Amino acid sequence: MARTRLAIIGLGKIARDQHIPALAGSDAFELVGVASPHNKLAGVPSHEDIGTLLQAVPDIAAVALCTTPQVRYDIARFALERGLHVLLEKPPGVTVSEVHALSALARKSNVALFASWHSRHAPAVEPARAWLDGRNIRTVTVNWKEDVRVWHPGQTWIWKAGGLGVFDPGINALSILTRIIAGGLFLKHAELRYPRNCETPIAASLSLSSANGAPVRMELDFLHTGPPEWSIDVDTEAGVLSLSKGGNEMQLAGKPVAVTQDTEYPNLYAHFASLVRARSVDVDVSPLQLVADAFLCGQRVEVEPFVETATSAHVRSK
Ligand code: NAP
Repeated sequence: MARTRLAIIGLGKIARDQHIPALAGSDAFELVGVASPHNKLAGVPSHEDIGTLLQAVPDIAAVALCTTPQVRYDIARFALERGLHVLLEKPPGVTVSEVHALSALARKSNVALFASWHSRHAPAVEPARAWLDGRNIRTVTVNWKEDVRVWHPGQTWIWKAGGLGVFDPGINALSILTRIIAGGLFLKHAELRYPRNCETPIAASLSLSSANGAPVRMELDFLHTGPPEWSIDVDTEAGVLSLSKGGNEMQLAGKPVAVTQDTEYPNLYAHFASLVRARSVDVDVSPLQLVADAFLCGQRVEVEPFVETATSAHVRSK
């Protein structure tokens, strides 16, 4: 069967690190174009915006939006109105209401829309969900801490409104939690720490509750140095389930559980292919809703201005 002709919109870090390799191994999609204001991909027609790309390259049927979040809605709308299938990188938008609007438009246009959450495709997430199914959860502890200077060097959009700050990685934890814990999560309290020179928080402490009242504590920190900590510990009557390395490893009562190798983005594209075939919409806003709730009710605390160091500029240039 012919592969679906797909273009990448926004040729930055995640497009190069994950989308291009996943597409190279895909038997469902063929990468036929790129639209990005400054970057070009050797050997693939590259244009500075989606409109110019669609005029220059015929029969593009799908787009993967790997842009910064702040420009995603307008580009997604433009693509859906032209009958293209759309994959959204996380977060699917900067507001919940614009994501609902995109869902409605995709249904009206009878095309696929996938609001992807790549961390949900990490290999330990489905085994964790299956193990937790029906178990009584007592407490949940999440630590999602990384050094922004190492993992997001030079990404000034993260510090602008809509860029989410520490919730850019933190929403990955929420995407896993909302998948593995049945019945939904509810935000109770949040403390958001904003550097005086930034529009988004650099650290946050959240208290949530599961549907059965189990407390969920989350610590998010962008100033953590050393190896990142992306861990979720779920205490149940049957012992503690631990996810580490962003859902790539799992332990039960301290003992490692074998899971498959990391195939996050190939799995993500396989799912998008099934949505394209069925012209279906897969949009779950619950991780974004919880971030929005934290911004709605969170207590704001001002902290020291954020300064990007010479070291991080050096890392980016590699
Ligand atoms: P990035 O390196 O800053 O890349 C974003 C790209 O968006 C830039 O290269 C820019 O292209 C492009 N862009 C901006 N405005 C555009 C427009 N109007 N039309 C087309 N392209 C436009 O950021 P990133 O790390 O790849 O992150 C992008 C998204 O992926 C974010 O939502 C992030 O949460 C998500 N994500 C990132 C990671 C990660 O590890 N970095 C992992 C998973 C998901 P030019 O440079 O050509 O101007």
